[in-house]
Amino acid sequence: MSVKNTPITVARGDGIGPEIMDATLQILDAAGARLDIREIEIGEKLYNQGIMNGISDESWDTLRETKVFLKAPIFTPMGGGFKSLNVTVRKTLGLYANVRPCASFHPFIKTNFPGMDLVVVRENEEDLYAGVEYAQVDGAIQSVKMITRAGSERICRYAFEYARANGRKKVTCMIKDNIMKMADGLFYEVFKEIAAEYPDIEQERYIIDIGAARIASRPTDFDVIVTENLYGDIISDIAAEVTGSVGLGISANIGDTCAMFEAMHGTAPDIAGQGIANPSGLLLGSIMMLTHIGQGDIASKVHNAWLKTIEDGIHTGDIYKEGISKKKVGTRDFTFAVIERIGDKPETLPVQSYPENSGGLKLPPVSVREPASKELIGADVYVEWRGADRADKCEELATLARQSLVDGMSLSLISNRGTKVWPNGSAETFCAPLWCLRFKSTTKSGSMMGHHVTKLLDNLYNNGLPFVKVEKLYEFEGGKPGFTKAQGE
Ligand code: NAD
Repeated sequence: MSVKNTPITVARGDGIGPEIMDATLQILDAAGARLDIREIEIGEKLYNQGIMNGISDESWDTLRETKVFLKAPIFTPMGGGFKSLNVTVRKTLGLYANVRPCASFHPFIKTNFPGMDLVVVRENEEDLYAGVEYAQVDGAIQSVKMITRAGSERICRYAFEYARANGRKKVTCMIKDNIMKMADGLFYEVFKEIAAEYPDIEQERYIIDIGAARIASRPTDFDVIVTENLYGDIISDIAAEVTGSVGLGISANIGDTCAMFEAMHGTAPDIAGQGIANPSGLLLGSIMMLTHIGQGDIASKVHNAWLKTIEDGIHTGDIYKEGISKKKVGTRDFTFAVIERIGDKPETLPVQSYPENSGGLKLPPVSVREPASKELIGADVYVEWRGADRADKCEELATLARQSLVDGMSLSLISNRGTKVWPNGSAETFCAPLWCLRFKSTTKSGSMMGHHVTKLLDNLYNNGLPFVKVEKLYEFEGGKPGFTKAQGE
């Protein structure tokens, strides 16, 4: 009986992308991977044609049809309104979990941490990567950090399920909830709720800064790490680097229906076209793809051939070390060396054996909760004002704001860059021309607040203070504020 090939989408990418993709596809082919490859063009070429997100409509169709994407790194243009294609693909296809295993290959690849074997499970759709930024006042930018209960629940559950399915013992949550009490506080609150459902797995918490430092100095302390998008991006590069090279890092992006597999590193423009790039990150990513599509037999073959090549000391320049490595090779010879070893097994490193039809993790749907009731109790009104640049000189702004008040509201404070500057601002506190006027309801019932806020904005405009942004202030059930206090409030 002939076995049907699995359709996958492939993109060769930019920089070293085509070189490492060629290498990967040659090895997969030699190992007998049952693939029906559909190639798409993404990245620099499309950006140069003025396609702002670096991908064409037809390519989206191919991705939706195949649901599996093997992608080489692509160049992301800076500024100019271009969107990162990586982020767009992850979000559009709902690839919420970014799984990044980082293990040492001691004694064959030099690392200070022989026993290191950790996996970063990074939230892939939210956080500052939402890419929502505003400049409402010349010279001041605001980036929106978006963390949701549902997004946090999905990634934390994925981390625990991943740990259970892969025989791992501990999940560490890394956050910065001492500063971002609401956003990171929510992520950690959800982590604890989910962790309670997995009593067989140890749980722990690190503040991200010391967590990142510990990954660099004691990575063997960690097993599975679950974290938000930006932190995960940073710590996984650190973790990959301490295994020996960022060129070894793998990045699997998993959603409910689609998945994308890539190397963790970028396009390496400094070595592009020289034939010296290490294809290992993408190759190891393709092994995760093979297990995802139920070709565990081929995944085992490719992985063991790669491990044997590494054991035999045949190394690309990024991992080559005198005294450890035997032969320094370019991408092409490394590829041939792996192909030659298909069917071989490593002698010292653990032999890999994937179940033939493992497939991906299946998670239950995100829990549905009744939304908590809330009451509007005020508004933060952002205005552009250039009358002063020090906190002790903003009395005039406070006067204008108070002249704009409507019945039932008071000016409770003024802040600048998150610090309280009125009343009693400090002469040392520098202020940007973007000021936040916090108005609060003076009455118990806030039922008229919506109307009051609209009237207040009119009054501010008439007093020469047009608003650039309004954030409504809510109080949730049980008196829980839906906003933070300013520093010094
Ligand atoms: P990079 O990862 O491309 O390179 C960092 C360093 O690691 C360089 O010195 C490079 O030579 C080396 N390196 C990376 N991969 C290697 C490999 N396979 N073999 C040997 N050495 C390797 O990071 P960068 O220079 O910050 O980014 C370059 C471009 O890549 C940027 O445009 C960035 O936006 C893009 N990028 C894309 C992705 C992706 O497509 N997933 C990820 C990260 C960065």
